[in-house]
Amino acid sequence: MPVRRRPGHQRPPFRRRAANNPRLERSLARLRYANRFMEAGHFIDAANIFNDLARKAEDRSIPRAPQLYIQAGRALTLAGEIDNGMLSLNKGLQLMLDHYQLQRFQVASYRVIQDLRKQGFENQALQLENTFAEYSKNRPTTPVKPQTQHPPLPPSCPDCGAVVRPEELEWINKNQAYCDYCGSVLERR
Ligand SMILES: [Zn+2]
Repeated sequence: MPVRRRPGHQRPPFRRRAANNPRLERSLARLRYANRFMEAGHFIDAANIFNDLARKAEDRSIPRAPQLYIQAGRALTLAGEIDNGMLSLNKGLQLMLDHYQLQRFQVASYRVIQDLRKQGFENQALQLENTFAEYSKNRPTTPVKPQTQHPPLPPSCPDCGAVVRPEELEWINKNQAYCDYCGSVLERR
């Protein structure tokens, strides 16, 4: 089940909030760069920005910090920096638990573990499964396969350029969801 908010309680889109806030505008610009670096295969450059934005988000307790760490981790593992990648992946998944984003944790951890396996990091995939298996004693956090019954959204966020994964998003209603990275509202196509 996706996380839902009551209708009428939407935050304004990031770009509108950013228009009057130079710090947010800078973060959005850097996020765009990071997503472009990812697409171009400049994984280390992307990871540095994602990690930095994640740390800043975490300092301000912004709920998107986990997604940014996970994206940094993915960039690092793609660059072959598996140890550093694992630090970021662990951090992101742990933060999701700390923020009680349990449904998103389930979907994200499944994707992260599958992703590691696809890249040939079987030991690290097992390591994550073991790390987070502990949590399933008290919390329902066993990684689950995402369900894909969401309406079509744009493949990437028009504001920050991040890849859109409908099954991991926070849905506002059946046609709109928040971008996982910048918080912009994504509309059904
Ligand atoms: Zn976005």
